[in-house]
Amino acid sequence: MSYSVKEIYFTLQGEGFHTGKHAVFCRFSGCNLWSGLEKNREKAICNFCDTDFVGTDGINGNKYQNAESLAKKIDEIWDKNSNDKLVVFTGGEPLLQLNGELIDLLHERKFKVAIETNGTILPPKNIDWICVSPKKGAEFNLDYGNEIKLVYPQEGLDPEEFQDFDFDHFFIQPMDGKDFQKNILQSVSYCIENPLWRLSLQTHKIMGID
Ligand code: SF4
Repeated sequence: MSYSVKEIYFTLQGEGFHTGKHAVFCRFSGCNLWSGLEKNREKAICNFCDTDFVGTDGINGNKYQNAESLAKKIDEIWDKNSNDKLVVFTGGEPLLQLNGELIDLLHERKFKVAIETNGTILPPKNIDWICVSPKKGAEFNLDYGNEIKLVYPQEGLDPEEFQDFDFDHFFIQPMDGKDFQKNILQSVSYCIENPLWRLSLQTHKIMGID
């Protein structure tokens, strides 16, 4: 199969459990909860997105014709000074495209494979790290994984709904936007009251990196 990729780049993971870790980020084009076009935002299921996942015009973005060509590109972008190889598939919604064949090829190249997903689609079995970020109003099908990262607050979405699901780590992450400062305070307060949940900050935005 072919893969539509918005961008691929080497960076430090900015949020969640692997914050600060070297990673190649591969951003697939497209999402099942929003078209990515501003004119459709208001009516989208998910309408607070801060990511451009439309098209293939970012750095190393392309229509990769097969899994081998995409795995090769990801390997080329890896920082050769480190052997602890990690690729994070994100989007958009990466599980619209990520499949077992691509994961196998990346394993052959010694990568650990992680995803950041909205939880609507079940992942291939051979994936190494699952981070789910549920969205209010969207189907929630992926109730297991390594970490759950809840953008907070989302009206009508109570973290308690998720606390009995099968995750190793539970994160609350303040929603960016016009109420950001207020959302940080609310998130801190929630984590203090509910110690199961740890605070995740988008440190890449603080650092001014992608
Ligand atoms: S699910 Fe994720 S990628 Fe899709 S619109 Fe929402 S925040 Fe953006």
